[in-house]
Amino acid sequence: APAETPQIVIDAHGLPYLNAELPVKKRVADLLSRMSLEEKAGQMTQAERGAVGGGGDIATYALGSLLSGGGSTPTPNTPEAWAKMVDGFQLRTRATRLQIPLIYGVDAVHGHNNLYGATIMPHNIGLGASRDPRLAYSTGSVTAAEVRATGIPWDFAPCLCVSRDERWGRSYESFGEDPALVQSMETVIQGLQGRADGRDLSRNDKVLATAKHFAGDGGTAYGSSTTGTYTTDQGVTTVTRQQLEDIHLAPYRTAVERGIGTVMPSYSSLDIVGDGKGAVKMHARGDMINGVLKDRMGFHGFVISDWNAIDQLPGDYATHVRTAVNAGVDMMMVPYSYKDFSGTLGDEVKAGRISEKRIDDAVSRILTQKFRLGLFEHPYADTSGAAAIGSPAHRTVARGAAAESQVLLKNSGGLLPLRKSEKVYVAGSNADDLGNQTGGWTLTWQGASGTHTRGTTILQGMRDAGGDVTYSKDASAPTDGYDVGVVVVGETPYAEGVGDVGNGHSLQLSAADQAAVDKVCAAMKCAVLIVSGRPQLIGDRLGSIDALVASWLPGTEGEGVADVLYGNRPFTGQLPVTWPKSESQLPINVGDTSYDPQFPYGWGLTTLTGVPRGGTETLKALDAAATAAERKGDARAGRELVTKARLLVQQKIGERMTQAVAKPFADADHLLLTGRYGKAVEKLTEAYRAT
Ligand code: BGC
Repeated sequence: APAETPQIVIDAHGLPYLNAELPVKKRVADLLSRMSLEEKAGQMTQAERGAVGGGGDIATYALGSLLSGGGSTPTPNTPEAWAKMVDGFQLRTRATRLQIPLIYGVDAVHGHNNLYGATIMPHNIGLGASRDPRLAYSTGSVTAAEVRATGIPWDFAPCLCVSRDERWGRSYESFGEDPALVQSMETVIQGLQGRADGRDLSRNDKVLATAKHFAGDGGTAYGSSTTGTYTTDQGVTTVTRQQLEDIHLAPYRTAVERGIGTVMPSYSSLDIVGDGKGAVKMHARGDMINGVLKDRMGFHGFVISDWNAIDQLPGDYATHVRTAVNAGVDMMMVPYSYKDFSGTLGDEVKAGRISEKRIDDAVSRILTQKFRLGLFEHPYADTSGAAAIGSPAHRTVARGAAAESQVLLKNSGGLLPLRKSEKVYVAGSNADDLGNQTGGWTLTWQGASGTHTRGTTILQGMRDAGGDVTYSKDASAPTDGYDVGVVVVGETPYAEGVGDVGNGHSLQLSAADQAAVDKVCAAMKCAVLIVSGRPQLIGDRLGSIDALVASWLPGTEGEGVADVLYGNRPFTGQLPVTWPKSESQLPINVGDTSYDPQFPYGWGLTTLTGVPRGGTETLKALDAAATAAERKGDARAGRELVTKARLLVQQKIGERMTQAVAKPFADADHLLLTGRYGKAVEKLTEAYRAT
């Protein structure tokens, strides 16, 4: 506790819920039996931290939770200030009758991204490109340690969205378009929370995680909807029941198995073909929240609404409250309307339109997580781990993640890796812009261009790697004296909505970016790096580019990108989403019957040495071995064999990508992730033959 805060120590004698020796279940039951309806309603209410001013309302309304969300007022910028702020709010709960601690939540979606100087990881789309579940675990661990060290026990992450249309402005929050890929990256949940039974949650380096946005957020038509004059990302997902299960619900089954503590429903509406309900907002879908998530999947954590999401439901306010609570939402994120919400909730219970049983269930779920987090015993920040925030050890993890996330799409004549002896001309809007390379949800909700936190740009990383580098952002006079040009282009930051406003919401590179690429690539051999939250259209320009890299949003450690550019580490990333030729192809996804992308899902060249060679005979042998590995359940061997086959096949395909090649190639990667190694090699053989 902060030194200046007076400690009001409650007499634990005779109060079972304050007895840490008792099982959580008993403590919850005891506490619940002492609570008034108002206190229960308060536990189900989450307010925005700026809205409660000095915090007096915390006691007045017995509030259960506070957040600093995307749309929140500016946040503190030192670890000490964060901890002091959260502790100050926590102190207010000491003045309530039952002294139930608050649970404070933030969106730490790629590191502790609300904090200046924190370690910022690549956004999820880059992690998906790494295909490395151990990496996802490590990034989760680092994030949890940095967040908890500032007194925050709850993180609204990971997004388990399966992005099916990259016009969606949240595509970068998705691990990819393949539910199997998303599932494989859910090791991040253990990184954040620790063991699945929740017994690590009270540690000072773990946080409660949130799987979001349940379900179908990545499947909205055109990735968006229009409300009034605004285009938003909160549209309608229309799917058959089978597609819903296989694509959008599958990641939640895994999350529940992994012991996810909370789930956030999606703003989007779900329209299940043939169920006769039409498009219904997820916050109103009791069949999904109560029925599928809680009853069928056995989710025992609590459901937190999205920001003001109940306001989007039809009817008057009382109807919003009743609909969402009865659908199974346990805590409401009502940033500024917390008084209305808790009052209305109480009234609805008194009127019998929400049962006491439902309220007791919701409150029990919330209290259970608070007990598991150890908040009753240690309500205040334990800042002993704060020295690790932004530390070299944490940045090493982020640097490795940035390197592993790079996808080499084209590499004519082996232009990459660069040699240190080469004179390199670096240009483009995203070569030296930390804000652009960290993207949205960094320091502010939307993120911002420029140097807004501590870190290394890609250009700086290349210099640190010892490269002979000259830089001109707008590619002025790239005429002579250079061996290689490296043009780094792409998007500027955005969050939610439908993407980069500067690019007119499209997947086109800006005019300035196109000009920079054309200028440099006309003058010398060139590598183009695309720093963006989703694929950008290259089209025919591909012919004039020697090497092309999808860099995604690599985070604060530009050295990680430089590591692969200079060959200190090999390129190993693979496309987590299909790279389209044109916008008219969208949506385009692995498994589609007609599939003619620029680069298929799973594509990714390597600069590893010793890439296997051989023809159909070699593939036959790999097939036999992969089938045997599959039968034995040897995942490690299976994955290695399929990877060998993929690298071999990719060499033959080279730049001769066709529709006949793309489809089996993409399918192979999905099969690999679902453990069907033999079939995966067969598909790769099919791609080989079609080349
Ligand atoms: C987003 C959520 C986020 C919440 C709180 C909403 O607008 O959809 O992903 O957790 O805000 O910031």
